[in-house]
Amino acid sequence: MRIGIGYDIHRLVTGRRLVLGGVSIPFAKGLKGHSDGDVVLHAVADAVLGAAGGPDIGTLFPDTEEKNRDMDSARIVRRAVREAGKRGLQPANADLVVICEEPKLAAWYGDIRRRIAELLGIGQSQVGIKAKTSERLGDTGKGRAVACLAAVCLDRKRRSR
Ligand code: MG
Repeated sequence: MRIGIGYDIHRLVTGRRLVLGGVSIPFAKGLKGHSDGDVVLHAVADAVLGAAGGPDIGTLFPDTEEKNRDMDSARIVRRAVREAGKRGLQPANADLVVICEEPKLAAWYGDIRRRIAELLGIGQSQVGIKAKTSERLGDTGKGRAVACLAAVCLDRKRRSR
């Protein structure tokens, strides 16, 4: 069993779609980024890669490459899972903390959990998710950014998967 952690933060700006955990969430602002700016999937992918002893996502998907512009971050997670697979490892569970003042995410937990479970190839009961505010402190607390912390455990790959 191996554990990895991931962290990401992106700026909230107008004129962008908000995508968190692979789910489009109706909100007045979205996350700025070279890709779709999905902090949740970026943190998850880095946690998978960290546990696998692989490269980080900035190395695999440089933000200087035009082809990565507005990319669906699901691609990054799938790549991370493939990298783990090459090392004989597969996700066992994931736990996430999304840090933002707004929007309220509780209504989206089910959709986000489902999407992350699907991308990692694990059951929905193996995905933990919680949202926290920053008590109006700092950039996340002032509604200027959304951040995410992720922990992912990898297990030895079973032959059947
Ligand atoms: Mg990012």
